[in-house]
Formats: sequence, structure tokens, C-alpha cells
Amino acid sequence: MDSSVVEGGASLRSPGTDATNRRVSYFFDSSIGEYYYGQGHLMKPHRIRVAHNLILNYNLHRKMEIIQPFPATKEEIGWFHSSDYVEFLSSVSPEIVNDKYDSYQRRRFNVGSDSESFDCPLFYGLFDFCQTSAGGSIGAAAKLNRNEADIAINWAGGLHHAKKSEASGFCYVNDIVLGILELLKVHKRVLYVDIDVHHGDGVEEAFYTTDRVMTVSFHKFGDFFPGTGHVKDIGASTGKYYALNAPLNNGIDDESFRSLFRPVIQKVMEVYQPEAVVLQCGADSLAGDRLGVFNLSVKGHADCIRFLRSFNVPLMMLGGGGYTVKNVARCWCYETAVAVGVEPDNDLPYSEFYEYFAPDYILYHESLPMKNENSPSELERIRNTLLEQLSHLPHVPSVPFQVTPSVTEVPEKEDENMDQRPKPGIQMSQDYDTDDEEKSNNGKFSNYYNYFNNEN
Ligand SMILES: [Zn+2]
Repeated sequence: MDSSVVEGGASLRSPGTDATNRRVSYFFDSSIGEYYYGQGHLMKPHRIRVAHNLILNYNLHRKMEIIQPFPATKEEIGWFHSSDYVEFLSSVSPEIVNDKYDSYQRRRFNVGSDSESFDCPLFYGLFDFCQTSAGGSIGAAAKLNRNEADIAINWAGGLHHAKKSEASGFCYVNDIVLGILELLKVHKRVLYVDIDVHHGDGVEEAFYTTDRVMTVSFHKFGDFFPGTGHVKDIGASTGKYYALNAPLNNGIDDESFRSLFRPVIQKVMEVYQPEAVVLQCGADSLAGDRLGVFNLSVKGHADCIRFLRSFNVPLMMLGGGGYTVKNVARCWCYETAVAVGVEPDNDLPYSEFYEYFAPDYILYHESLPMKNENSPSELERIRNTLLEQLSHLPHVPSVPFQVTPSVTEVPEKEDENMDQRPKPGIQMSQDYDTDDEEKSNNGKFSNYYNYFNNEN
């Protein structure tokens, strides 16, 4: 067991290691941007392609290993999800759904083209999309397990709302839970941190009663999807005190967020001493997000990555929400740069989607003039509550290390040379949406949209 102690700040686990050097593996499948949730839907996998394009044009791919993940198998997805749900996801398609599955079953799994499940529509290639997203996170975990990388990135992952037998909030398969289960084969304790504007409910629920995974979520709370994540929700049974929730209000800015995030995570690292960290980098907590209500700049958002990276504990970085495409791309490109240890120029290099970034063509998206409804006293109260909760933990919990199967030999497709690779083209030029798309969706967003608009 690693006996090193993280003390008094983000000290390096391996003394002598260059603080700026990390071995970074980046999981990306060029098909990801082609999936399409449907007209008017806010979730656009295309954003991952736009982010990737920026990453290439900043030459960040030369500083990391690019890996095309193998799709997760039904068996792997079944590590967490129920077999009838996996069977449903893997066998439905928009054409056959009405013949094979009645509306009862579609409602049961919360998937379908009906208005009641518009959050999680049935779209072409749905299961392939899930396999690619989950395959990246399982592959990233296996890479960290084999100690072949210090940081593994999968921007197609981070789909934190998916439940064992149910889709939720644009998420069908919980790649995060699957990635953490893979990490648990090697690591005694895994820390999950979620900075998406929405509560990381699916991951919290999956590990609510265990001390082998600690979940920490910072999110908007109160009349907002998914409605969970109260500060008093702290875990149960063996997992009591191993779930932390920071419920926040609209308009939180960089300074306020940092004043909460850093001391809480510092304390978590000290007392829990995770052997691996999974960070969900949902970009809907950025200022100006089409669904989000926070006011973080790209640099403020990335400060969370910078801080966790400084502990030099194996780190998985995943995507998540993010509904203003150009800002999601800016954010995940910059956070990739932080991972590999470079500070990119603010002027964007020319890229295939250059016009998205008009009129300023810069990387560093700033906060907006917006009221911060989180008072200093309220933030202090939350911080003290969370620190108090952490004081209940034994210093380095003595977690029994269950005997688990050997590390998955997750195959990886051969690395591709990104310099020679043809640039991904837009496959659905008529269909893919930009941020300028009409905002009307006929009130079909049953959950996210209504929470956002206070229509429930
Ligand atoms: Zn979100």
C-alpha cells in the first residue's frame, strides 16, 4: 500500500517528479460527433468533435497518447446496468421500437420517441453511442490500472444521470460507474468529483452504501434537475459520510467556487487518500450555458482540474453536460492543455469550426455580468458543514480490499496518427445544430428543460 501522505497542500505523491509532467492518454473516437439526439435537442455529441478539432489545432495531440477506445461490450455494460435494460438498449431502434416494445416498456426504461421521454430519445445508433462513450471510460480506467498513464481523458464520457435500469437526463449508460468499477479492481479507494451544474445523482446512488468510493458533487440545488443532492445526503450504511454534496445557487463565480472547492477537496484528499480520482468536468457550469445557471469562466472551471492534478494521483477526466457548443469546446480543449501541462495562446488557431467562435475568436471564455446569489456567509456555512462531515471519517479508512478479478485487458485500437488523419467531416450537414439554432422545442423537455424554466 502506498504510505505517502498528502499534507498541507497539493504535494506530489512521488517526490522528485516534475510537477508539470504527466503521461496523458486521450480517448477519442471520430464517430462520436455524428450521433444526433434529434432536432431541437440540447445534447449535441457534435461538441466533442469541435473540442477535438481545437485540441488538434493547438497541437496538444503531440503531447499525449491518442487512443481509439474499443466499444464497451454488453457484458461490460451489465457490470452496472440490469440485463433487461441492456437488452432493451441494444435491440431497439427507431424503426422497430413500436413493434417490439410497447409504450409501457419504453416508459419503464425512460427511453423513446414519445413526448414523455424527450429527454432521452431513441435515436439512430443509440447503443453504439453508449458503447463508445462507456468504452472510453473503461479503457481510461484500464490504462490507469496498468500504470501506463497518469491522466486519462474521455470527453465522450461523464454521463452521470444514467441509472441501473433507467435512462435519465440525456444519459443512458453510466460510463462513470463502469469506469470506477474497473478502477476498483486495482485501487482500494476511488474519489469521484463532479463539477457539472447538475447533481451527479447516478454515480452517487451507485456507490451510496460503500466506503470504497467517495462522491463529491458541486451543483445547483433547488427547483432544478434532478432535484437531489441536499447537503444532508451523506451516504448510508458503510457509505455513511462517503457522499458529499455542495448545493449552490445561481450565478456562482470563479472566486466563490474556488473558495469552496479547494478547502473541501484538500480535506478529502488528506483524510480519504484516494488511490485514483475521477473528475466529471460537465461544462454546463460555465457562464452562458443554455441550461446552466452558474457563472464560471473557462479558467475558473479548469482550476478544479489544475488543483486535482497537482496531487499526482491517477486521474480520469470525463465530459458531461455542456449545452453552448463553442464554450464546451473551449473548456475541454483548455482542460486538455492543463492536463498535458501547457498554457495555450488565447487567440484561437484556425480550425474547421472557426466561425463558431466569432466575433472574438479567443479561447478564454469569461464570466458574465450576473448576480451571484451565493452569499459569502452561505458559502461558509456549506464549507463548514462539509468539513465537519469529513471530520467523521477515520484517517485513511481501513477498507477491506475485496478480491476482484484480474485487470481487464481492454483492447485498444491502434493509435492513429492525428497529423495524417483526415479531418472529421460533418456527416449530417443538414441536421447538426449550432448554438444559433432556434430555442423552441415545443416544451418537449420534460425534465431538464422544465426545471430550468420553472415550469414544473
Ligand atoms: Zn449537467
